[in-house]
Amino acid sequence: MKLDISDVYSLDNKEVTRKVHIDMAEFQSRQGTFPIQAGEPFNLTIANEEGKRLRLSGEGDVTVQIPCDRCLQEVDVPFHFEIEKTVSLADVSEETEDDSDEAASYIDEERVLDVDRLIFNEILVNWPAKVLCRPDCKGICPKCGTNLNLATCDCEQGELDPRMAQFQDVFNKFKEV
Ligand SMILES: [Zn+2]
Ligand SMILES: [Zn+2]
Repeated sequence: MKLDISDVYSLDNKEVTRKVHIDMAEFQSRQGTFPIQAGEPFNLTIANEEGKRLRLSGEGDVTVQIPCDRCLQEVDVPFHFEIEKTVSLADVSEETEDDSDEAASYIDEERVLDVDRLIFNEILVNWPAKVLCRPDCKGICPKCGTNLNLATCDCEQGELDPRMAQFQDVFNKFKEV
């Protein structure tokens, strides 16, 4: 959702807490598109610090469905995010020595905070290196595509590709003639 925070911008030391929620239904990144289940709305506190900085704080939860690395089955991956950010109120060009986040991508010139963008960044930095539906996921048979968590296949018994096996049958028949 978009949150107009112009009132906090213009009043020194003003602090507001707003209940916000995530609108985005999908997480789109270079790695693909993943469905999102937004958690409960959460409290976001926006504080104006001496007219110099904005401090954003809040925490919440969101679940992203990511395919298992081995069997590709969708896994609900929970993300708990804790936001603690400081954004300079000065123009980007003016601030250099400040330790605040440079050019906050989630606040536009109209002083509207993009909650989805803020959370998007949180998901991105916490993206898991590995996603497994269960620690001992058996994966997919590379030969026939069977999900080995749900069923077994005969592929492991022979080294031959099924198509090759078929070919061999034909070849043997041919020899017998
Ligand atoms: Zn799996
Ligand atoms: Zn198989």
